Amino acid sequence: MSHDRVLIAGGGIGGLSLALTLHQIGVDCVVFESVSELKPLGVGINLQPNAVRELMELGFTTDDLDQLGAPAREWALVGQKGQEIYAEPRGTDAGYHWPQYAVHRGAFHMALARRFVQLAGADALRTGQRAAGYQIEADGRVTLRLTSVDGESFETGRVLIGADGIHSAIRAQMHPTQPPIHWGGAVMWRGTSWTKPVRTGASFIGLGTHRHRMVIYPISRPDPDTGLALVNWIAEVTYDDPSVHERTGWFRQVPIEDFIHHFEGWTYDWLDVPALIRGADAAYENPMIDRDPVPHWIDGPVALMGDAAHAMYPTGSNGASQAIIDARTLGAKILSDGVTALALEAYNDQLCGPVSDLILRNRGAGPFGLLNLVNDRCGGEFDQIDDVVTPQERSEFMTKYKAAAGFARDTLNAAPSIIPAGAQIGQQASP
Ligand SMILES: Cc1cc2nc3c(=O)[nH]c(=O)nc-3n(C[C@H](O)[C@H](O)[C@H](O)COP(=O)(O)OP(=O)(O)OC[C@H]3O[C@@H](n4cnc5c(N)ncnc54)[C@H](O)[C@@H]3O)c2cc1C
Repeated sequence: MSHDRVLIAGGGIGGLSLALTLHQIGVDCVVFESVSELKPLGVGINLQPNAVRELMELGFTTDDLDQLGAPAREWALVGQKGQEIYAEPRGTDAGYHWPQYAVHRGAFHMALARRFVQLAGADALRTGQRAAGYQIEADGRVTLRLTSVDGESFETGRVLIGADGIHSAIRAQMHPTQPPIHWGGAVMWRGTSWTKPVRTGASFIGLGTHRHRMVIYPISRPDPDTGLALVNWIAEVTYDDPSVHERTGWFRQVPIEDFIHHFEGWTYDWLDVPALIRGADAAYENPMIDRDPVPHWIDGPVALMGDAAHAMYPTGSNGASQAIIDARTLGAKILSDGVTALALEAYNDQLCGPVSDLILRNRGAGPFGLLNLVNDRCGGEFDQIDDVVTPQERSEFMTKYKAAAGFARDTLNAAPSIIPAGAQIGQQASP
């Protein structure tokens, strides 16, 4: 068995995007995933134009993406009385060369996995294999320790990428003194309901205040016969005293009655929030958690990516997009420097600092920070938003956020591909 492969711990969105990228550029890799069977878990996520571009450069077509979700046309913030605070076009409507998509996380995850297995073979994605730790060998290679129902096993490779999510075992070994997961007191309840989409029919809507809000967006196109679309919703409340609410892990299913009382009375002539929530088959609760940034994502031939590197609040809708950008950036550095620790160092130098800043920016509410501003100035109560925050201030706020998150339109449109079309790792690039 080759010891020159890239070992990837974690077959989520980040790990599989990296696996597809490495396959594209001719680098051998194997993915070790802890769950014994991949299932289409989760609800809606957004794929920003920078990530959609990368998916298209990996061979996904708009037809493929249309099977998984729907293109987004607008991003809007609306106050609790239903008054508009800010709205802007998104995706191709905003002049990006690539659309923004709102997709079902589980369906997208399955599509990545299917494509990788088709291209690289079933043996390249090994399920039921939990990464438990690593050891750097004297010759610079790295050995990954795995546990499974059959016991412990070891795999050696040229480099190891920890793509094992927010509870990453690879990160825990790399940063043994890292603080525990950070929770600021916000709880999210998520679900999907078939309903008539509002505004443009493909709008992302943040509704409410900075501590009590709904996020709503369709993850399918409307059915041509019924006009109904699958609409993702997140109901969110921030508790002043976090101890009043038990901390939970990802996706604990809860009865709607547990939380709908927070949104009773949220009815407008264009939207009925309680009806939207009641329309869901199931609701899932999870705390809004992230991790403090770490000073580096590398340890010799080992690097972190995706949530293992930078778990962040979903306020910026860019966790999955950043995982895809990490994957492509790692691929580009491997193209330049070979499958080496040097390539991982170049990746870390490019992304660790700016993405760590983004974690803190999202913790400070990300683009929803406009709601904080409104709250600071008028307690969230207003008749005319222009009297509270001027149009120029609103537009400047969003421009700054998009530049920090890496999806400023003109910069993205003008940027060359991260991985040049047809690029393959040269024999001479390997050490
Ligand atoms: C079940 C699930 C549901 C989610 N649902 C949503 C959602 O609805 N909305 C949203 O915005 N975000 C959701 N997320 C988070 C979102 O997918 C990530 O923030 C983002 O896609 C970054 O991707 P990632 O690959 O870094 O992490 P993830 O997508 O979390 O993937 C990490 C992968 O590593 C595997 N893993 C974990 N530990 C180990 C280990 N020790 N060894 C090997 N493999 C390991 C996990 O099983 C998982 O497949 C969900 C994550 C998960 C795991």
